[in-house]
Amino acid sequence: MEFDWPEEALAFRKEVSAFLDHELPAWWDIGVNTLTAEAGSPHHEFCREFCAKLAQHGYLTPHWPAEYGGREAGAWELFALTEVLSACGDPRGQQYMNVNWIGPAIMRYGTPEQKRHFLPKMSRGEIQFCQGFSEPDAGSDLAALRTTAIRDNDEYVVNGQKVWTSYALTADFCFLLVRTSPGSRGPTGISVLLVPMNLPGLIARPIPNIMDHGFCELFFDELRVPVSSRLGPEDDGWAVAMDALTFERIGMARFARALRLLDELIGRLRRSGEMSRPGTAERIGRAIAACHAARAVAYRVIDARARSLPPGPEGNVARLASNWAEQFAVDAIFELSRDAVETGSLADGALRSALPSGHATGSVEVNLGIIAKRLLGLKGEA
Ligand SMILES: Cc1cc2nc3c(=O)[nH]c(=O)nc-3n(C[C@H](O)[C@H](O)[C@H](O)COP(=O)(O)OP(=O)(O)OC[C@H]3O[C@@H](n4cnc5c(N)ncnc54)[C@H](O)[C@@H]3O)c2cc1C
Repeated sequence: MEFDWPEEALAFRKEVSAFLDHELPAWWDIGVNTLTAEAGSPHHEFCREFCAKLAQHGYLTPHWPAEYGGREAGAWELFALTEVLSACGDPRGQQYMNVNWIGPAIMRYGTPEQKRHFLPKMSRGEIQFCQGFSEPDAGSDLAALRTTAIRDNDEYVVNGQKVWTSYALTADFCFLLVRTSPGSRGPTGISVLLVPMNLPGLIARPIPNIMDHGFCELFFDELRVPVSSRLGPEDDGWAVAMDALTFERIGMARFARALRLLDELIGRLRRSGEMSRPGTAERIGRAIAACHAARAVAYRVIDARARSLPPGPEGNVARLASNWAEQFAVDAIFELSRDAVETGSLADGALRSALPSGHATGSVEVNLGIIAKRLLGLKGEA
């Protein structure tokens, strides 16, 4: 068994870490979850500008093919980048969706015009997408979605509603799942549309929430979009969307961020002389162990990716392990911080960041169902 990172990935990790140390401003707070940054907030504006800077240095889409603005960096290099960015609160903000799966989906399914239109702008960090999947009655059971797009000559007329659409207020386009075959049910009759957010007939309304996450609901009322905005075949968009999501097998390296937060906690406890309190080191040690276990599972998935093996349920295990590691860390930070319940404390930021991780991109229960069925061979629904 080989435990070493490839040389080029190690060098890349060092290079990007040095870049972030130099470029992230003093006010940048790793305790604040940038993914929850609201539209117009300094954090959000900063992330948008920072993405362009990352792009200039080749750190935004290094894994993309050269013709679309990348350099075909390998799976390990990409994961080194993910770890380093996650550890410091991911200053890419909402761009992580573009670079990880929306861009690759356009590469695979887009027309030449769509590729020319979207990919260069994405790789320069100039445009942002949101993901219009969930509906009030279609979350985990996404195939129950009801938003329709009915063909009228060379246009689709869209009607319906989406919910929990992250960052919709700051997005330029929506990667939208709609039902194009009237009366169809389940995963058939669905298509993907790439919809500009500024069209009449589309309203985005923020949903206030305890995490300050940029959630919105989207309302479509006779929205007209050209047929040329469809990505992939008509009525077979389910395959496009599911295929796109396999590009995003692990998601954020939440364990890397948790380790960084635990480091911060240890520094604070040492300075206040509380590190030697009975049980403190053990509590932190357990959380660190959970993070390293999550890292080991993630590396197994990256190893498979590096060897071009098909995605399996190990990705679901890695996601859960990372969520749980983060939860362990947040619990430790809460228990051991004197200011835990104060707004803006390390514990407050860590909790806000960790709260939604068991729901976004597949809930814990749904992931467990997939593991039970596909990895353990248990019978039942998943
Ligand atoms: C931070 C965050 C960001 C998000 N961003 C977006 C976004 O940008 N775009 C978007 O479209 N959506 C987004 N979502 C929505 C997310 O995809 C849904 O929350 C998720 O699919 C679950 O759907 P639901 O909330 O409707 O819950 P439901 O599907 O109604 O589930 C409710 C409960 O039932 C459980 N459950 C459901 N089905 C099963 C099953 N088969 N087996 C066992 N238990 C089950 C779930 O685990 C959950 O505990 C986001 C969610 C979060 C938390």
